Amino acid sequence: MERTNSEKFEKLIGELRSCRDCEEKFGFEPHPVVMGNFDAKIMHISQAPSISVHKTMKSFNDISGKILRHEWYHISDEVFYDPANFYITSVGHCYPGKLPKGGDRLPPKECAEKWLAREIELTDSELIIIVGGKAAEFFFPKEDFKSLVFSDRTIKGKPAYVLPHPSPRNRKWLMDNPEFLNKRVKEISAEIHRVLGL
Ligand code: SF4
Repeated sequence: MERTNSEKFEKLIGELRSCRDCEEKFGFEPHPVVMGNFDAKIMHISQAPSISVHKTMKSFNDISGKILRHEWYHISDEVFYDPANFYITSVGHCYPGKLPKGGDRLPPKECAEKWLAREIELTDSELIIIVGGKAAEFFFPKEDFKSLVFSDRTIKGKPAYVLPHPSPRNRKWLMDNPEFLNKRVKEISAEIHRVLGL
């Protein structure tokens, strides 16, 4: 009997959570992190989990997540982590470890190629949000990041917004582009509220 999208999705997530392909490269056991239902209203795609997310297995359970939820989206933790609201994933599903000079390693390219295309195929969201340059690069490889942030896009026919990473390490980009916090993020937040019925 043909599987439903929901069944295919559950199978995919089971396989994804068991993935340990990067163990040798990372030098520690990878912890793939995804949260939410296949038919969540919003598909939320970021770069890769932080060390704090790696330890707690909870997406955006860090300072970036607090900024995103409370200062940018203006939604509560309960709304963000409601599996019917957000399917939260990333181009690299595991914390990739630290670079010798500080900062996290880049998400492994093969991760998105292996998993994300299938997640997009099986999820049934109304809106797609992409957070960070590395995540944007996967979908729009040749495009200027700033112009992506300030324009409305579509992915597979669905409206998509690109946001800069909310990490405090990205403060310079936000200072150089004040119209993001002054205007653009408010438009995106309003659209999130509309889709969630808030
Ligand atoms: S980063 Fe992706 S490919 Fe690597 S172990 Fe995690 S889920 Fe697998």
